[in-house]
Amino acid sequence: MKMMRKKTLKNGEDDKAFWETQHQLLHDTLCRSSSLESRIRNATKEALKEAQMGEGFCVCRRPVAGGCRSCLVREICGRLQKAGFNSAICKSKWKSSPDIPSGEHTFLDAVDNSNSKNQEIRVIIELNFRAEFEVARASEEYNKLIRKLPEVFVGKVERLHNLIKVLCCAAKKCMKENKMHMGPWRKYRYMQAKWLGTCERTTWTPPLSTVCPGRAPRPRRASMLTVDLLENLPNLHRTAVQVL
Ligand SMILES: [Zn+2]
Repeated sequence: MKMMRKKTLKNGEDDKAFWETQHQLLHDTLCRSSSLESRIRNATKEALKEAQMGEGFCVCRRPVAGGCRSCLVREICGRLQKAGFNSAICKSKWKSSPDIPSGEHTFLDAVDNSNSKNQEIRVIIELNFRAEFEVARASEEYNKLIRKLPEVFVGKVERLHNLIKVLCCAAKKCMKENKMHMGPWRKYRYMQAKWLGTCERTTWTPPLSTVCPGRAPRPRRASMLTVDLLENLPNLHRTAVQVL
């Protein structure tokens, strides 16, 4: 009996240390930011604010008020390009493996090679970052960590890589503590495939409706067919990039 109590106490201390470490790692990863990341982050926030003020960027057959995710991604991409960034829509797609099921994911990036070393720096932009890690019925410790995440993540590949490592480790611990099954889509490998695997970059030319904000152009509605055709127009510059 005595020994058991001692063991519980020790585990409690280990748990406390574990979560403290995760908070520290998360903080260390999120608080650092290069000037390039800050510039892209500010431009993304500005683009989101402007997009949310102007309506009608949802060009789906049944436009969603406030815009659907896919139209929002395009809109933000176009606005970042207008602001002078080499931004693109990235689509990752992966096959199932013994560890993880197949899947696909769309997000944004901005590539910069204006630095003195002529080095290419890729900054990932995920508009729904926090939501990607939310877990129903998670422990309070895990939720506390998730609340520290920005809703919109803008950061270099290495930073995202570190963040995913911390978050997947925390999710694993939380699931184990709560005796919950860890869905394969929460695994590190899956998260890695989502943002850090091979992806197709599409530099999409924004529709006219976004060229002159403030002049309130009529919302442009396109049928699904038009959207499909747009996707095959030659002004789409597609390149496959292999990351890592
Ligand atoms: Zn839409």
